[in-house]
Amino acid sequence: MRTFEDSYRHKGLRKKLVDLLRAKGITDERVLEAINTIPRHFFLDSAFDEKAYEDKAFPIAVGQTISQPYTVAYQSQLLDIRPYEKVLEIGTGSAYQACVLAEMGAQVFTIERQRALFDQNKLSPHLKKYPKIKFFYGDGFDGLPTYAPFDKVLITAAAPYIPEKLITQLKVGGKMVIPLGEGSVQKMLRLTKKEDLTCNEEEFDNFSFVPMLEGKKQ
Ligand code: SAH
Repeated sequence: MRTFEDSYRHKGLRKKLVDLLRAKGITDERVLEAINTIPRHFFLDSAFDEKAYEDKAFPIAVGQTISQPYTVAYQSQLLDIRPYEKVLEIGTGSAYQACVLAEMGAQVFTIERQRALFDQNKLSPHLKKYPKIKFFYGDGFDGLPTYAPFDKVLITAAAPYIPEKLITQLKVGGKMVIPLGEGSVQKMLRLTKKEDLTCNEEEFDNFSFVPMLEGKKQ
């Protein structure tokens, strides 16, 4: 069960979360504003009504997680989103990250391999507010060739390697943010596609994501 009431208490908790993210080093005001706007408790079971504003990952359906707010903010900041940019997200999950990007003005194309999560998002009333998000059921390793090229690509699961097809679907000058590595810890990378179609690679902090898996799950 979920509740879709956004009270003053929720708004207050959200403001505190934003202050915490700022203290942790998030500086992109547009990211902070998006997090301040979006009721994160709408994306979780009502049992997490207040916990939703702790800086923690929580379980959603089928053994997956909603990313920690700090992680969402960190990845969004690295992407340097501009209004109207086309962004491909791999791993819709709860769709919270997709809403942050949409709130920042991006056109979001998001892929989920778990049928149950895809179906749940299609039915969620709070996502109707975001016509800028297009939901796809599929394998993120393939990307969305029909809608390419993208200005930005965001991977929100632990990638065992850099998916070549996703680099192909990125514009020259475009950026991909990807947590790379198997096991319990991944290194956050930002790749920028160059004129010669190779990528410039920057390394950031370590994070812990659920794995990016091949193929769709019924
Ligand atoms: N962005 C999400 C984070 C969800 S966790 C959020 O804001 O809540 C990562 C998600 O990636 C999981 O839902 C998982 O099922 C999905 N995933 C893993 N491998 C995938 C793949 N190959 N293609 C698409 N989605 C994938």
